[in-house]
Amino acid sequence: MFQKILIANRGEIALRIICACKDLGIKTVAVYSEADRNSLHVRFADEAVCIGPAKSARSYLDIPSVMSAAEITNVNAIHPGYGFLSENADFAEVCAAHGVKFIGPSPNVTRMMGLKQKARAAMKEAGVPTLPGSIDVLHSAEEALEIANEIGYPVILKAAAGGGGRGMRVVHSAEELPTQLLQAQTEAGAAFSVPDIYVEKYIPNPRHIEFQLLADEHGDVEVLFERECSIQRRHQKLIEEAPSPVVTPELRAEMCERLKVAFKKIGYTNAGTVEFLMDPEGNLFFIEVNARIQVEHPVTEAITGVDLVKSQILIAAGARLSDFLIRPIQLNGHAIECRINAEHPETFAPSPGRITGLNLPGGIGVRVDTAVYTDGVIPPYYDSLVAKLICHGATREEAIDRSLRALDMFVVEGIYTSIPLQKRILADEDFRAARIDTNYIARKMPPKATAAKG
Ligand code: ADP
Repeated sequence: MFQKILIANRGEIALRIICACKDLGIKTVAVYSEADRNSLHVRFADEAVCIGPAKSARSYLDIPSVMSAAEITNVNAIHPGYGFLSENADFAEVCAAHGVKFIGPSPNVTRMMGLKQKARAAMKEAGVPTLPGSIDVLHSAEEALEIANEIGYPVILKAAAGGGGRGMRVVHSAEELPTQLLQAQTEAGAAFSVPDIYVEKYIPNPRHIEFQLLADEHGDVEVLFERECSIQRRHQKLIEEAPSPVVTPELRAEMCERLKVAFKKIGYTNAGTVEFLMDPEGNLFFIEVNARIQVEHPVTEAITGVDLVKSQILIAAGARLSDFLIRPIQLNGHAIECRINAEHPETFAPSPGRITGLNLPGGIGVRVDTAVYTDGVIPPYYDSLVAKLICHGATREEAIDRSLRALDMFVVEGIYTSIPLQKRILADEDFRAARIDTNYIARKMPPKATAAKG
């Protein structure tokens, strides 16, 4: 087992990884930017190294700085968390070259999953249903028109290297396709350094459903059921739940089996998420693989009792799934996560700043993953996540009621947060009846002129 792990991340996920390491008796090294000097991950790690200025390009994303910290502190492994370097195949290769284990899939698999059209081709080849679309990136407007004509409008143009809900454009007719393609390529080049665009069928009002898997380095794969993440704003998730209220036991069993076979075939290792869109007829279509731990992993932990971060570390250390998983995995109750962001609940404008007052809720069925504290600051340089509230109940209804109770007792003063919006959603009868899709917020909660603070 590893003696010491470096955590190449910040915020709640850095603390989450510290928890897993403490549970395993592994020492931890935090890295931090100058803006994060007073952060809790710095305080609770066994050692901490400052790796640069606030700007993430010069700290959390700077491979030489992170590797120097790893060398100075003599760690055996690096956990990248999510975001930052977590899906950077070059970083995984540099780790290997320095004899440091990267806690994630192999560089080759990470590279393939990072290029969405490549991941899509691999999934199709492995027997997973994908959306009709271009086989590779688009080379010309003529090619795009030909494919769009074949699959039918509307279509969606997506950046091969896209992420975070950015770099997507819906196209409704052949007339607008060439200009949209050109704009999409220019934007993708600027945002992701890769101008490549591919096209696929656009599904109006889909549900977002994703499957969690764990794969060891000995060819064994387990699928820990699904999460539904249809409550999104601007293609970014805001509320997630597990299991999905619309996935039947039969569909669940069939998908888990299919994905086990597919991921064995592609030689996937460590944790990963396979994302799908569900059309109104209930068909699932693959959209992408996230080759890392995800923000919403705790809802799966709540319903399965499996510590996913601990599992990642055990797998990276060479353990077999059969050494630590109790199988068959049991699905227990229902869990809901609210991502509490530092943002205006109605305009979604970021709201960084000092937290002047704070109460974190507790009580039965409530988990809060956060790195904030009273008088702490949400810096403007990174993502706007303040806390994740995860509530577990025997049924979906109980999980919703506990979430509402916890949100009522969740106090964050000094900045705007998404709490008021989340309360409205959880109390809404369509949400309670599970009549949700990815356009739910855009349709039901249009922006208002006034807003509550806290
Ligand atoms: P990212 O990597 O930026 O998160 P994804 O491919 O995972 O991009 O898609 C994010 C979200 O964008 C989905 O959850 C969905 O809301 C929307 N989306 C993506 N592809 C399609 C599609 N073909 N049809 C309809 N909506 C889509």
